[in-house]
Amino acid sequence: MVQLPTAVDRIEVRHRRFFVKRDDAIDPLLSGNKYRKLQALVETPADAYRGIVSYGGTQSNAMLSIAALCNSKGWAFHYSGRLLPERIRQQPQGNLKMALELGMQLHELEPTAYAAAVPLLRQQAEADGNLFLPQGGADPLAARGIRQLAIEIDDWQRAEGIKRLNVVTPSGTGTTAYYLAASLPGSEVWTAPVVGSRGYLAEQMQRLGALPANLRLIDTPERHRFASPYPELLALWQELKGAGIEFDLIYGARMWHVLLQYIDAIDGEILYVHSGGLIGNATMLERYRHKGL
Ligand SMILES: *Cc1c(COP(=O)(O)O)cnc(C)c1O
Repeated sequence: MVQLPTAVDRIEVRHRRFFVKRDDAIDPLLSGNKYRKLQALVETPADAYRGIVSYGGTQSNAMLSIAALCNSKGWAFHYSGRLLPERIRQQPQGNLKMALELGMQLHELEPTAYAAAVPLLRQQAEADGNLFLPQGGADPLAARGIRQLAIEIDDWQRAEGIKRLNVVTPSGTGTTAYYLAASLPGSEVWTAPVVGSRGYLAEQMQRLGALPANLRLIDTPERHRFASPYPELLALWQELKGAGIEFDLIYGARMWHVLLQYIDAIDGEILYVHSGGLIGNATMLERYRHKGL
């Protein structure tokens, strides 16, 4: 059973106090912002759809969360991804393994066929009585659950008597940060791109609407390739774990890396919204070990 509102903890990092909204505690599979983005569907009656159609990376957290949702609703889940390496097809791991066990039907496509298929998926899905969800759940349907998160933050801020609040959360598609900023006009919402550049992130967000004025897209000059191991990100992740909270190694570690570089420019209290994804840490730690880090 999901317990809302989620708790807010405090940690001290480099002599500064941070509040952390523990959305990672919502559910291991429907974790963090994925629960928030899918909340509208969690509350949708099972007979509203036959299934969900989506696409994207084959270790994606969104993929795993949608698989868990479909499993609990008795919905089919059709997911298109790029061709798997033979080794992975024989022995799926991590999020892919769990999603397949939850009944996800994976449709592997050649890279050229993949690019061509994606625009057709929506039409096909809707004709078949399925719901189409864009990659990463980047859909206006996400607004409802994120608005609920914003209400929890607002209530907490009031109870704590905090005047100036900065809310921080990492971005993939930017859907979470976008709707958070739109729902918290009195706060600044800071986010960093984890998947591509700042420009690419802004472009993704603009598909949802005009960028809210209180939304701050921050980045640092070094390029961290998405989901690749970097010693500085691992070290920071360990430091944060030592401070008392485990974050995810892909989004969380990079968001904190950027945040700490901007820290002197941020006035007021900071609430970091934990975006979940801890279940992927085992696979990432394995990759770090593989690299000898
Ligand atoms: C999916 C995910 C994000 C990115 O969320 P968007 O709404 O796509 O920006 C951030 N953190 C974690 C842990 C995620 O799994």
